Amino acid sequence: MTIQHQARKRFGQNFLVDQQIIAQIISAIGPSAEDNLIEIGPGTAAITEHLIKRCPSMKVVELDRDLVSFLTEKFAAYPDFSIFSGDALKTDFAQFHNGRPMRLVGNLPYNISTPLLFHLIKVRELIQDMHFMLQLEVVERLGAVPGNKTYGRLSVMVQYHCRVMPLIPVPPESFRPAPKVQSAIVRLKPHRTKPCTAENEDLLSQLVSHSFQQRRKTLRNCLKPYAGHLGSAAEEIDLSRRAEQLSVAEFVTLSNHIHQSMMRAK
Ligand code: SAH
Repeated sequence: MTIQHQARKRFGQNFLVDQQIIAQIISAIGPSAEDNLIEIGPGTAAITEHLIKRCPSMKVVELDRDLVSFLTEKFAAYPDFSIFSGDALKTDFAQFHNGRPMRLVGNLPYNISTPLLFHLIKVRELIQDMHFMLQLEVVERLGAVPGNKTYGRLSVMVQYHCRVMPLIPVPPESFRPAPKVQSAIVRLKPHRTKPCTAENEDLLSQLVSHSFQQRRKTLRNCLKPYAGHLGSAAEEIDLSRRAEQLSVAEFVTLSNHIHQSMMRAK
């Protein structure tokens, strides 16, 4: 079954047409029948039709209702296949956890990729791994190290929770229509044991947001809302530095000092 589907810009639709890239993606994922496999934005099933052969119980989340009808028909012969019609950003992924950790896959619409990553981080404990096609620039931000100009809130928060592995660069010609930017496949694997642990992860997240809000300012300036709690942190972390110079571990140290100070003040 084929489909005449006019790609919709508002749904960020760039369909994969490059069979070689598709084969590389499938082999990087290595799906198997027991996996709790979920694809976000299956579109016209370029990746789905390969995944489903190895994992007939896979699930998909798709926003475009025309594509939902198409997929329902196309995969009617797979009784264990399920389609969730709706917005991945508003989907509670915890509902898909069936005792097996989730494996998430998707050639994501680039306009939702950052909010979607933050949305999925909330359920990281239920996730085995994620393989996403993203804008190359976003993959670079995910894997960036301190001092790099793309190192920011996304890098720190995703690296705190996951191991980031950039896998396959993908040129614009691999899609229809071709996007204006380069893309890449990245694998994200939530840490089983974190390299460093924040005692208060909400605080860490707020602190990282504040620190990168004005990249050019020193940490001491950015962290004015925590001014009363920076005493012991300042003994270990030089607050005249800027956020982009701090490693994930240093952000965690900073956060734990502030947390301790807040607890003492209670
Ligand atoms: N996986 C397909 C399609 C990629 S295009 C391929 O590689 O060819 C992106 C897909 O995500 C489209 O099918 C689009 O309709 C869907 N989509 C866009 N926004 C979405 C959202 N918020 N939630 C779920 N799916 C979405």
